[in-house]
Amino acid sequence: MFVQVQPDVLAGNVPVGYLTTSRLCWAGCAFCRLASPPTAHDRPKRWNPDNAIATHDLSRIRVLKVRGGLSATEPFDHWVRFLRQLAPQLAPGTIMLAFSPVELWHYHVKERRSLRELARLLVWAGATAIGPGGSETWDAERRNRWAPHRLTVDQWWQVVECAEAVGLGYTLGPMAIPRQSHDDWHQYLQGIRPVAPLHIEIKPLNSDNTPLASEGHGHVLEVGYAAQILRAAFPSVPIYVRWPDPSPDVAQILGASGVTGLFVTQWEVSS
Ligand code: SF4
Repeated sequence: MFVQVQPDVLAGNVPVGYLTTSRLCWAGCAFCRLASPPTAHDRPKRWNPDNAIATHDLSRIRVLKVRGGLSATEPFDHWVRFLRQLAPQLAPGTIMLAFSPVELWHYHVKERRSLRELARLLVWAGATAIGPGGSETWDAERRNRWAPHRLTVDQWWQVVECAEAVGLGYTLGPMAIPRQSHDDWHQYLQGIRPVAPLHIEIKPLNSDNTPLASEGHGHVLEVGYAAQILRAAFPSVPIYVRWPDPSPDVAQILGASGVTGLFVTQWEVSS
């Protein structure tokens, strides 16, 4: 059943800059266009995005998202140093989201470093929070089918607890999938228990050109349904959706469902 909401319009758009560290990922999630065979992975040398990012006006964004596939050639410290130099160029109050929980877990395993150490370094680099990877979304059955190398909810919790312990925020990234039931969302909320995320980004499934193409897309009504449930569970947490070129009807539905605003891509720099 839909929860009762007040009609409203979206409060505003949030300009976002994206830094994609790698466009390749060995994890092979069925809905992801970064998924690629391991043979394609290693770039010959480290990528330094200095020149590419210098062509963009950093002061115009309000959120910087650093994310990428799990096959970046660069070590974690490469990105930490890069972000440390970048942070002073951002406008005051800009939210820097650096790496999702599954990306941090990847570095934790690959470089044999503690999650807490990695989280502490992100704080040193100027990050506000870890990004919304969506790993908390998956129940065991669907994760095994769609994203077998994603974190379990328990692993997601380990990352979040390490972030909290060092003063780093975290975000939620639930995916809006066609035909999700109220029970699905109830199970999701049970899995994450009481948390205090910086914000929530609902991600509509976009299965174009993926093995999940037959599943279709997350429809605006399904995103609105998710937003209403999440708004009821998190009354004061901002909820965002990345929805390119929304029609007035789409904006109206999302706003009335409790979505705070839209993430609007200002620029993207990728390897
Ligand atoms: S872990 Fe992330 S980047 Fe990698 S395949 Fe899955 S969704 Fe894509």
